Amino acid sequence: MTTSEEFRQNRDNFCYRHPDRQSFVLCQRCLRTICPQCQTQGAVGVICPECMKEQRASQSPAQRKAQRRWVRGPVAVGTQRPTATYVIIAITAAAFVLQLFFPAFENALAFNSAYVIPSVAFEPWRLLTSVFLHSSFWHIGLNMLALWMIGRSLEPLLGHTRFVVLYLLSGLGGSVGVALLAPGIWVVGASGAVFGLLGALLVIGRHIGANITGILIVLGLNLVIGFLPGYNIAWQAHVGGLVVGGLIGLIYAGTRTRNARVLQISLLVAVGVALLALLIIPAVFYV
Ligand SMILES: [Zn+2]
Ligand SMILES: [Zn+2]
Repeated sequence: MTTSEEFRQNRDNFCYRHPDRQSFVLCQRCLRTICPQCQTQGAVGVICPECMKEQRASQSPAQRKAQRRWVRGPVAVGTQRPTATYVIIAITAAAFVLQLFFPAFENALAFNSAYVIPSVAFEPWRLLTSVFLHSSFWHIGLNMLALWMIGRSLEPLLGHTRFVVLYLLSGLGGSVGVALLAPGIWVVGASGAVFGLLGALLVIGRHIGANITGILIVLGLNLVIGFLPGYNIAWQAHVGGLVVGGLIGLIYAGTRTRNARVLQISLLVAVGVALLALLIIPAVFYV
């Protein structure tokens, strides 16, 4: 494949200190690519070991002392944690507890394509809020397990913001998939977003050491659960999420150079706008 060949030959896609390690995260100071192990959390973004050393050397002893006092603990190299993954899991778990106690909470946030048809009912936030709701312990358990398995490999590679954008746009893609392919059904669940992470992982992360077999088993179980009586399956959400996630993976891989940042943001905005524009189809034809 020429694209993957090009990708491999572009040294901007790899850590400058470890040429065999793929990464999408740049040092905030020198803007070179660094792998998760070479990242040190700075005040804004991450910095590389060389810049870290220079910064330390340029500090006066008093500054160094102040930093030791105010920066919590020594900033250790290689501690880029999948914070956004944990935050998404926490929000989803909290939402599940609220669902158990307050049915009205679920009724106000679950997705049905009728709610994006202005002449019927217009509550567009349901496109995204439904991603944080679940229908059973199995449903949330398997989705969050898959999110954790993918997130801990993919988030350090992409950085927190790109990871969250990928998750939310994939979740939106899942809802749009349902609106287009299964208008009228009610859906909840992170499956679309999780399948989006999988799509991106398959496009950009085949070499990052994620346990893809394990992830596929968990997602397969998730699909099987969907076919059991009493559960609604929404394969349309899986397809929507997978397609959008793969697309965003391609965007991230293709705009990795340091001067392609504006292009990357523009393309992501374009994906979001295109997804919302697709909702014109159910609004016009399915009423
Ligand atoms: Zn640097
Ligand atoms: Zn490195």
